[in-house]
Amino acid sequence: MSGQATVHDEDGGILLRRPLPERAGRGLLSVVIPCHNERDVIEATHSRLTEVLPTTGMDFEIIYIDDGSRDDTLEKLAAIAARDGRVAVIELSRNFGQQAAMSAGLAAARGAAIVITDADLQDPPEVIPEMVAAWRTGVDVAYGRRRRRAGETAFKLATASLYHRLLARLMPYPMPVDTGDFKLIDRAVADAVVALPEKRRYLRSLVPWAGFRHEPVWYDRHPRAAGETKYSPWKLVKLAGDALVLSSDAPLRLTWVAAATLATIGTLATAVAAFSTLVGPPREGVSLAAITAVASFVAAIQTAAVAIVGEYVARTYREVQGRPPWVVRRTIGPAAESRSGSRAA
Ligand code: UDP
Ligand code: MG
Repeated sequence: MSGQATVHDEDGGILLRRPLPERAGRGLLSVVIPCHNERDVIEATHSRLTEVLPTTGMDFEIIYIDDGSRDDTLEKLAAIAARDGRVAVIELSRNFGQQAAMSAGLAAARGAAIVITDADLQDPPEVIPEMVAAWRTGVDVAYGRRRRRAGETAFKLATASLYHRLLARLMPYPMPVDTGDFKLIDRAVADAVVALPEKRRYLRSLVPWAGFRHEPVWYDRHPRAAGETKYSPWKLVKLAGDALVLSSDAPLRLTWVAAATLATIGTLATAVAAFSTLVGPPREGVSLAAITAVASFVAAIQTAAVAIVGEYVARTYREVQGRPPWVVRRTIGPAAESRSGSRAA
């Protein structure tokens, strides 16, 4: 590549940069795609990818991870691998979840740069050449930043936006907002993340944790091409909890705020009670409703504090057990390395 490449800054402004000589050649690009029950879309995804990826000017491998699909996704993936030597399929032994599936793909990827994307074409493959162009100029993490998200409910958009901003404030390191899993990362970033000993992995916060140079590539997110979302509201809540608790101590600190608030209310109430006993007219006692209200409030805050501690204890217990985050049943194709659990394990 010659000439200058365009890269976007945080606000969507255009920066012009020269490619780095060491990232200018063909090199290998890995594309990692977690798949769970994606029979309706996987063929279309593969043909779109194989049309677009040659325009990056890099050689490429595509690693599909079958995350315990119950439909015939795996058979379809095996057929794709049989006719396309650039494809590897990692079959997990059951459904371990998208985060584990992506980590399994990352551990097997051999590229100088690695793209992570969903199987459902919500993240258009046409953005990948832009990510590669940004990477060539020295960006280590070119993350897809969503300008628009079609096909999502107003409720999901509002809660996601609010949550991303809240999370970014509570994290002990900078976290990009309005971004999902769609990103390109440099080999060095992948190595740093894969080498982490922790078992429970939330890549959206581990990649920012690793540091390096992050820059957004702005794009419009499309509706799912076919099939349905695998995320129920409940699964999203669990994911939101992982995102926060795995990387931040803020919820634990919040219990101090609750304690301080209760202590202040208690002190004020004592002062008021003492004052009215000393100087006020005689009283008839307190209503049962008032006592119940105060007792429930205090009990709720104490229970919440215990529950927050419990969230950390449970995750600590899981880490101490040290079970691998995924298990491989079989790998198909040349690129896949057979591994159970993370490389560091
Ligand atoms: N996925 C997975 N394992 C799961 C759930 C989802 O590998 O347990 C994959 C899924 O096949 C897709 C990606 O993760 O490629 C994102 O899932 P989905 O599109 O359902 O999520 P949404 O875009 O609705 O948030
Ligand atoms: Mg999707």
